[in-house]
Amino acid sequence: MAICGYGPVGSLCSLLMADYGYKVLLIDKNIGTSPTARAINTDGEQLRIFDKFGLAEKIIENSNQIEKIHFSKKSLEPIQSITQTLGDSSMGWPNQVLFYQPELEGFVREVVESKENIDVMELCELTDFNDKGNEVEIICKNENQEIKFLSKFLIGCDGASSFVRKKLNIDLDDFGYNQKWLVCDAHLTQNIYLKNELIQVCDPKRPCTFLHGRRGHLRFEFRVMPEDNLKELKDEAFIWNLLSPWINKKNAILERADIYNFHACIANRWNINNVLIAGDSAHQMPPFMGAGMGTGIRDVTNLSWKIHLILQKKANKKILETYQKERYPHAKWTIGQTITIGELIEGFCAAEQGKEFIPEKKGYDVRFPHIPSGIFKNSKDGITGYPIPQPKLFINNNCIKLDKLINSNFVIMSKSDIKKVSEKANQIIKKLEIKFIRIKDIDDPDKLLEKIFDLYKYVLVRPDLYVYGGSNENDLSEMIESIDKSFELI
Ligand SMILES: Cc1cc2nc3c(=O)[nH]c(=O)nc-3n(C[C@H](O)[C@H](O)[C@H](O)COP(=O)(O)OP(=O)(O)OC[C@H]3O[C@@H](n4cnc5c(N)ncnc54)[C@H](O)[C@@H]3O)c2cc1C
Repeated sequence: MAICGYGPVGSLCSLLMADYGYKVLLIDKNIGTSPTARAINTDGEQLRIFDKFGLAEKIIENSNQIEKIHFSKKSLEPIQSITQTLGDSSMGWPNQVLFYQPELEGFVREVVESKENIDVMELCELTDFNDKGNEVEIICKNENQEIKFLSKFLIGCDGASSFVRKKLNIDLDDFGYNQKWLVCDAHLTQNIYLKNELIQVCDPKRPCTFLHGRRGHLRFEFRVMPEDNLKELKDEAFIWNLLSPWINKKNAILERADIYNFHACIANRWNINNVLIAGDSAHQMPPFMGAGMGTGIRDVTNLSWKIHLILQKKANKKILETYQKERYPHAKWTIGQTITIGELIEGFCAAEQGKEFIPEKKGYDVRFPHIPSGIFKNSKDGITGYPIPQPKLFINNNCIKLDKLINSNFVIMSKSDIKKVSEKANQIIKKLEIKFIRIKDIDDPDKLLEKIFDLYKYVLVRPDLYVYGGSNENDLSEMIESIDKSFELI
């Protein structure tokens, strides 16, 4: 298995594939962790993936959880506020934690580099590849030397200007959102008791975002306005002036200030045969929701178990079509949501100038949608196609989190035993080694699974922790049998 790009998405992808026992080649044209923070926010669903590799607690220990999100006036007086619930969410981890990207990448790299079945080659640029049907020839340049490898699959996690996507001639559908923003990272040198919050400052003269990161890391994003001179904008004195409502040279240091183009686009194909794309290579969005990396982590989590089924000769390669079918609409929704936040900022800015603005859409307090396919029957139950909640289970006096029991398998969960299922369903249970987890009411004192078991007697969970479907006694066999078609089993 070859992965191009040792960014956050490529590194998680390598761990997911290595966990299934495959030999993974991970290449990157650069060396070392990202020198600056871009991503700063992660969520409970991603922490469940980090937790597979023992990283979730370490990330949380080195993060900050903010209490409030505001859209505010220029004066910082709130216009609309959302209070965040701190502590563990139904995902079994906090719903939002703010981390420092170079540090997080360092944690992930420690695990990657401890794995004997992952070969990392940095300063190694992917310059070409040829899909030969059963395998992909991969051509790289390493210190002026050409190296060739053969791999069953190539996954391009090679970022926004993805070579893999371009070589496959995959077009990006553009949502028409193109704005330049000045992104600054600073670090407090003393505690000045800044509020623990995220503010979208709706100043019509220059909208800006402020976020309070971990251990005094502060993120500021300022919109570049049409009249700006880009050179002047990067002048240090000018930047300190922009930062002056919060910090000054006496209490903080400026790590960097760079201008980014915030785009919104999505690739119209996510794979061609044995070559696939994931992360920023497949989609880009403005960072207002802090969801770009997370969307990429969801991509590779969706993909890894499908590739595993192919390599185990349990599924036809057609299963790869489900990757785009499931991930494209989800990523498109996320992009749309970030644009909505951008529009809210603009609307509140217009209101500051005396224009009427009544927000029609919600900004932050919305739930990710369910995946639209790769599920059984009912997608309107608020359960199917969503990640299964993660309770702390108390089984035989031992406390164990649900994900440890699921352990990247298909599982059927129920409060009762499984009675008889059809012969075909039985064969599928054997082929996929579907585990059965019996959960008594007493095992789940926080009642996180109560809503599910009120509706269904059995719930089938996919290896990526998404609920495949729920059934009762009469349609349990049908639910299990339907996996055959849904995931192209052979
Ligand atoms: C200001 C800002 C704030 C953000 N905030 C958040 C946030 O809070 N939360 C969030 O989830 N996301 C956020 N994002 C988005 C997030 O940073 C990206 O979505 C994420 O970094 C994408 O990860 P990736 O692994 O797909 O790509 P990248 O991180 O871009 O990594 C791609 C890697 O591929 C390598 N590569 C490229 N081409 C080749 C080649 N030909 N050969 C070998 N190697 C190659 C590159 O060197 C690079 O290391 C933010 C982005 C910005 C700009």
